[in-house]
Amino acid sequence: MQSESTQDAVLRTAMHNYEATAERLGLPDAIARRLAHPKEMITLQLHPAMPDGRLLDVQAHVVRHCDALGPAKGGIRMDAAVTRDMVTGLSMEMTWKTALIGVPFGGGKTGIVCNPGELPPDGKEILIRSFVRAARRHIGPEIYVPAPDMGTGQKEMGFIRDCISYSDGIAIPRGCFVTGKPVILGGIRGRREATGRGVVAALECACRHLGRDLSRLTVAVQGFGNVGAVAARELQQRGAKVVAVADLTGGTHKASGLDIAALERHVAQTGKLANFAGGDEIDPARLHETECDILLPAAAGSTIHAGNAAGIKARIIAEGANAPVTPEADKILSEAGVFFIPDILCNAGGVFVSYLEYTQETQREQMEKAEVEARLHERMETAFQEVLTYSLEKNMPMRAAAMDIAVRRVAEAITARGIHP
Ligand code: NAD
Repeated sequence: MQSESTQDAVLRTAMHNYEATAERLGLPDAIARRLAHPKEMITLQLHPAMPDGRLLDVQAHVVRHCDALGPAKGGIRMDAAVTRDMVTGLSMEMTWKTALIGVPFGGGKTGIVCNPGELPPDGKEILIRSFVRAARRHIGPEIYVPAPDMGTGQKEMGFIRDCISYSDGIAIPRGCFVTGKPVILGGIRGRREATGRGVVAALECACRHLGRDLSRLTVAVQGFGNVGAVAARELQQRGAKVVAVADLTGGTHKASGLDIAALERHVAQTGKLANFAGGDEIDPARLHETECDILLPAAAGSTIHAGNAAGIKARIIAEGANAPVTPEADKILSEAGVFFIPDILCNAGGVFVSYLEYTQETQREQMEKAEVEARLHERMETAFQEVLTYSLEKNMPMRAAAMDIAVRRVAEAITARGIHP
């Protein structure tokens, strides 16, 4: 692992939160040291041939942090800024998230170092298939089960499933190798929306606890992809005003509330958020300064840092993204009385519904969307309540409470397995 000064900010945040928890819990040294490092880190060199004749050189990192509770679970991020340290930090977060939301998975993550926006048509599919061929022996229902993350979605998960069954010479793979697939290929209804819906379910719980009426609150959303767009739509449906949204291409603001359906149509038609006629343009880098009650980061990690934390007006931060807040910003904002819904709780709806998809596929069953949504809502409420109760009893922030519960569960599993390091 790299030194502190050159370490990736996401890994630094993950390590900071973990080390503080291990100390609070007084974890036995053997377990504490074991959880401080990933179980396996693989770097693959891919050389996919693009339809325009170019031969790319792309690195992919697959990290399995821990499998004490079950096969590693975690999405595939495709982004030029991905590093192996970042993937390590994100895989560690997955270990805590699966434990906290109570599904029998461990933590893993994949990072493909490439800007998908720069690939020619069909290039993304070729790159994903190239990745699956190279990573084939590291993916499986009992090893590591990927899912979508930034830069990948349902379509790519469908290609992964096809690539695995095709290489095995069978129509469908035996068991669940990937979640977040199109429903027609064994995906589950409601998975695409699950993370965003889960974020909103957590926000409803937070508002109930804080005595706030969600339908009267204003929200700023950073990122308008799978998580951000769904959460924005759901929030609007509950009467909240989404006053600002930003993505990598631009930002838009309307104090009386943006029309999210119109914004979705604009993004679908133009491929970007910039130049939306239904709001005033804002600098996406200044979204955090928006006058609003709730800030919902749903983009890259570490976007809330010491440099912009003091300018944040929102008093509730719902972490749709993974590790969006650096430890320094966490301290500044917590001291200012901001209520955090920490990432391992806030965005855990996605992995919970991935678990439903995993069991559905393993048992060759079909689950109705209403059942998926009801189970998601119930599980988010249970997990939120559990974290809130612990935080009130111990008089500690929600993040520390969530980490305590999650890390203790993983440590218990390691002990119960009887594996002595
Ligand atoms: P996505 O690729 O669908 O969308 C990402 C969005 O963020 C895009 O609109 C992009 O333009 C924007 N963005 C990226 N960097 C930005 C920046 N610096 N400033 C402003 N906007 C920026 O990704 P997603 O699946 O919605 O994931 C978003 C976040 O949620 C990630 O942190 C991811 O790890 C986390 N997450 C996703 C899921 C899931 O099910 N997809 C589950 C849990 C957590």
